Amino acid sequence: MSRVILPGATIGVLGSGQLGRMFAIAARRMGYRVHTLSPSEDSPTGQVADLEITADYEDLDAIRAFASGVQVITFEFENVSTAAAAAAAELVPVRPSGRALHVTQQRAREKAFLADHGFPVTPFTAVHSIDDLAVGLGLIGLPAIVKTASFGYDGKGQHRVNAIEEAEPVWNLLSHDDAIVERVVDFSHEISVVGARGLDGAFAHYGAIENQHRHHILDVSIAPARIAPEIAASAVEMTRAILEQLDYVGVLCVEFFLTGTGQLLVNEIAPRPHNSGHFSFDACVTSQFEQQVRAVCGLPLGETTQMRPAAMVNLLGDLWVKGEPDWAAALAFGDVKLHLYGKTEPRVGRKMGHLTALAETADEAMTKALAARAVLA
Ligand code: AMP
Repeated sequence: MSRVILPGATIGVLGSGQLGRMFAIAARRMGYRVHTLSPSEDSPTGQVADLEITADYEDLDAIRAFASGVQVITFEFENVSTAAAAAAAELVPVRPSGRALHVTQQRAREKAFLADHGFPVTPFTAVHSIDDLAVGLGLIGLPAIVKTASFGYDGKGQHRVNAIEEAEPVWNLLSHDDAIVERVVDFSHEISVVGARGLDGAFAHYGAIENQHRHHILDVSIAPARIAPEIAASAVEMTRAILEQLDYVGVLCVEFFLTGTGQLLVNEIAPRPHNSGHFSFDACVTSQFEQQVRAVCGLPLGETTQMRPAAMVNLLGDLWVKGEPDWAAALAFGDVKLHLYGKTEPRVGRKMGHLTALAETADEAMTKALAARAVLA
């Protein structure tokens, strides 16, 4: 199972969004073929893959047929079931493993894993009913955030509770029965570390990245993060330790809150390349997507040196409200790179693309990225 998968081979990707698209671009550049499976058609990944299979993730026969046509499987969508990952693993290596997926795809499980291994997390409690929720809010204190345990992303399935009377309406808004209650953290910064672990146990990372969210969705990422170097080093070390504890192969992102008192708390883990690491496509010797190709194929990890400070801004569907954005205006900034994901329906809040700006300093990169986005609409 541990043999190296060389260029010319076919990599299977479960999921078909922009992460799969950028992975596929990196893989095809290196001479691999890419097949993708998801319930969608004409998907961001499918548009650049060699083959797009449209099937449900729970269709285990389709997953097995898909696996029989590739040499290794990875995923860009972490909510693939353990059964689907296991069905694929009967035929080919699945990297990262089904176990890593299992731990990270459910918030309560992920938090328990982190706390059990000594990583600092936001105070939390798992709840399974409205009665539990009332008790949980009492334990954690107000204000609190209630998050669905599964299938939550970009702030979906997340509700702030300021008063105990809000418990019942919030519970009714949750579409799943399992949730966690978390203390609201008074953070000075949100940062993330994108790390990778090779089949040989080697570790690589992209330093600490500073993230700003709007309406719970990532808006701007600045690399390197404008924080004390020793805090960045501590976040990188925690990321390395999490990769080790999960016996992980592939790219993973750890998101942290940095509190006003300088404490790092792990918010969540994404078992795949991450939106905050998109800058690496244009700014680093090896992007997070090429790194994922190298890791899942059992190749040596690539060097991650960042060539210039960078900032990334997301382009959400909201930008299309007045019609097609003015791409030429943004591209008048010669060191701003445009990435569009091939999505045809620009819905509000939907990630349609991003811009990466390169500059002499992180501050300048951020100013330039925001200026380039401002001229789009
Ligand atoms: P998540 O889906 O957990 O990454 O949450 C999305 C965003 O909501 C985070 O990046 C924060 O900006 C905010 N958020 C989530 N949990 C908390 C918390 N416990 N305290 C303060 N802000 C939070």
